[in-house]
Amino acid sequence: MTTPKLFIALDTPDLDQALSLAKQLDAPEVGLKIGLEFLSAHGPQGAAKMIETGRPVFIDCKLHDIPNTVAGAIRALTRLRPYMLNVHAAGGPAMMTAAKEAVMDEAAQGGFTAPKLLAVTLLTSINEEDAFSIGTCFCRRKLKDLGFTVPEGEEMRPHIVRGQVHRLATLAKESGLDGIVCAPTDINIVRQACGDDFQLLTPGIRPKGAEKGDQKRTLTPKEALDLGSNYLVIGRPITQAKDPALALRNILGTLS
Ligand code: C5P
Repeated sequence: MTTPKLFIALDTPDLDQALSLAKQLDAPEVGLKIGLEFLSAHGPQGAAKMIETGRPVFIDCKLHDIPNTVAGAIRALTRLRPYMLNVHAAGGPAMMTAAKEAVMDEAAQGGFTAPKLLAVTLLTSINEEDAFSIGTCFCRRKLKDLGFTVPEGEEMRPHIVRGQVHRLATLAKESGLDGIVCAPTDINIVRQACGDDFQLLTPGIRPKGAEKGDQKRTLTPKEALDLGSNYLVIGRPITQAKDPALALRNILGTLS
C-alpha cells in the first residue's frame, strides 16, 4: 500500500454515495476518511465496507470519554483494520495512553499492522475568538514557559490558539501517539514542539479560490505540504465539485 498523502473526507450519511465517490476518487496516494456523519448512519459495518475497498481508510471517530470507555471503543475499531484512528487530545494523557495500548494490543493479538493513532488538538473551525469564549485561556507566564513571548500591552487573544495547540500536541507525543490533527496554520508550532518524526494530519485545506465554508484557519494543499504536513484532509472542495474526479486531479496537479 502506497503511503497516502491525501484523505478525502466522505462526509455523507449515504453509503452508496460514499462508495461511488471512493471509486471515482481512486489514486495511489489518496485514502478515504469517514467521520461522525458516516459512522452515525452506518456504524462499524459501514466502516468495514469502506475498508473492504482495499484503500487506506482513516476512521475520524474523534473519541473523547473516560480512558476505559475510549480504550474499549478503540479496540473494536482497531479490529476493522483501518489505516488510522483518532481521539481528542483534550481527553488527557491517561485516555490517550489507554487508547494507544488498546490499538497495539489488538493489532498484536490479530497479527496485523497497528493503525496509526492521532490526537485532535484544536478543531480547524475554532479561531481565537472561539477559543477565548470556550475558556481556553493562557496567561502571559504560561505562554512564556512554552517559548512564546507576548509583549506587554499586546492583546493575548491571538496567542491563545498557538498556546493550546502547542500544549495538546506535546501531551499527545508524551502519551505515545503517532501524531496529531491540526490546522495547517499550526504546522510550524507543532513541528517545533514535537520534531520531524511526529505525523501531522491537516484538514482545513482549501485550493486557491475555493469556498472556506465553516473552516477558519486554512492553507492551500501545496502550502500545507511545503510546511511539513504528512497527510492532507480535503472534503467539500472535491466532493461538492461538479466533477469530483477532475477537482482531485487538479489538486494533485498542484502538488508536484
Ligand atoms: O469539507 P472540508 O474539507 O472542510 O472537510 C474537513 C474534514 O476534516 C471534515 O470531515 C471534518 O470533520 C474534518 N476535521 C476538521 N478539523 C479537525 C479535524 C477534522 O475539519 N480539526
